[in-house]
Amino acid sequence: MLKVNNINVYYGAIHAIKGVSLEVKEGAIVTLIGANGAGKSTILKTISGLLRPKTGEIIYEGNKLNTMEAQEIVRSGVCQVPEGRRVFANMSVLENLELGAFLRKDKAQIKEDMEKVFEKFPRLKERISQLAGTLSGGEQQMLAIGRAMMSRPRLMLLDEPSMGLAPLLVKEIFSIIKEINQSGTTILLVEQNAHMALSIANYAYVLETGKIVLEGPAKELAESEQVKKAYLGG
Ligand code: ATP
Repeated sequence: MLKVNNINVYYGAIHAIKGVSLEVKEGAIVTLIGANGAGKSTILKTISGLLRPKTGEIIYEGNKLNTMEAQEIVRSGVCQVPEGRRVFANMSVLENLELGAFLRKDKAQIKEDMEKVFEKFPRLKERISQLAGTLSGGEQQMLAIGRAMMSRPRLMLLDEPSMGLAPLLVKEIFSIIKEINQSGTTILLVEQNAHMALSIANYAYVLETGKIVLEGPAKELAESEQVKKAYLGG
């Protein structure tokens, strides 16, 4: 479904991503794990068109994303849930969700999808008119995921959904990510929480200072001594 071929991404003179290639197969949950500053967010931003690779290409269902506008990329079915639960703080929960659907015109289906979001996140329904900035951290993360669901993505890019959340909430968010996947959305998940990420993913890549250093089925990586030592605290 998605193929990233040998991309190099720079911030000015800083060579942040060094020849990264990865693949996401339709229906899978693929995770990209790595420490702070390894370049995980940079890769997601490059896929969603917020950054451009200097060389290399990104192919999604035969289309070259690296030459498409970010809006066109969303329209083609790829949606990013940004890091740090970036919701529109001065807008209500409802307005945030409506914005997730702003490129769509299928009113009846938008309503249906809104109901689906509320089914998954009843807490958002209870807080439908509350300003997003006053939601708790976990609720904001739910809203960020809900907003992405409203674009009906076929491929969802998730940037560190566990960040800053209490362990119980992390579990809840991850089980919802799994459900979203089971209902047909392919997932590329970027995480520092390697333990949780490997527990739900099918396939995993390990990123260190801008390079993929290891890849394989998530179960195998979770058992690998190298990963255990560096990322699983043991
Ligand atoms: P984290 O988990 O801490 O968010 P990450 O793996 O997502 O880390 P990135 O945010 O992709 O890492 O950053 C990769 C590298 O690029 C880091 O060295 C970072 O300092 C650098 N970088 C990121 N954004 C910029 C920017 N706008 N300008 C210059 N350098 C940047």
